[in-house]
Amino acid sequence: GLIVQIGPIESVISILEDNYMYLVIEEQSKQAVAVDPAVPHRLLEIVKREGLSLTAVLTTHHHWDHARGNEALVKEVPGLRVYGGDDRIGGLTDKVTNAQELKFNSINVRCLFTPCHTSGHMCYFVWEDECTDAPAVFTGDTLFIAGCGRFLEGTAEQMYHNLTQVLGSLPQDTKVFCGHEYTIKNLKFAMLVEPENEKARDDDDKPTVPSTLIEEFEYNPFLRLSEEGVQKFTGKTDPIEVLRVLRKEKDKFKKPKERPSPHAMLALEWGLLRP
Ligand SMILES: [Zn+2]
Repeated sequence: GLIVQIGPIESVISILEDNYMYLVIEEQSKQAVAVDPAVPHRLLEIVKREGLSLTAVLTTHHHWDHARGNEALVKEVPGLRVYGGDDRIGGLTDKVTNAQELKFNSINVRCLFTPCHTSGHMCYFVWEDECTDAPAVFTGDTLFIAGCGRFLEGTAEQMYHNLTQVLGSLPQDTKVFCGHEYTIKNLKFAMLVEPENEKARDDDDKPTVPSTLIEEFEYNPFLRLSEEGVQKFTGKTDPIEVLRVLRKEKDKFKKPKERPSPHAMLALEWGLLRP
């Protein structure tokens, strides 16, 4: 199956954000499954252009920047199924539970319940029958490249379970497709946490979507809770406490001192201004 990632570059003009949406395509039947299709008209353009038939939407969580396209898509695409783990998801037709498996011809999906960023957050592990390609996981706002999501409706204990047990135990070559492009900012924080970690250095080799789990374990501080440097940075040794402090520090780190105006942001995106 071909995974098409859309955004953030393609979608910058219309939504001024850094969200990724994805299409998983079964090449033979041309059936496609979308993940967090927040810009429905853009998605439908691609579906049409490629001669695909869109059969399902997988929604990681109810936040507007992930789920806002669902209702429009349900109206436009007869019979479309919308899967998710939270009743707050717009257009939801099928509520899924942990470890539930879905099948779209040769594309298999296992729903992984990962509450914390939101209480109904799901990640989706995807693999194809008779295919030697590495599997994929769509991690929404739970795991980012070099970072992890905010704990808006959950605890450090839950995120620890999500990162180490649920996602961390998937095959190490699993490709990670996350919900936002935050990599550069995340790597800056990773370097602050572990200045000695060469893998976190923000240079020309910076990772991008998709990374793999094995790569994430090399530079993502949120997956490196037992590393000496991360423990030293947080002043804790218990991994859950390390994670709790790490996320608090990241919250502070993220807050910009002055938020640029939307027009300045647009100019920045288009390269008209220097940051
Ligand atoms: Zn979110």
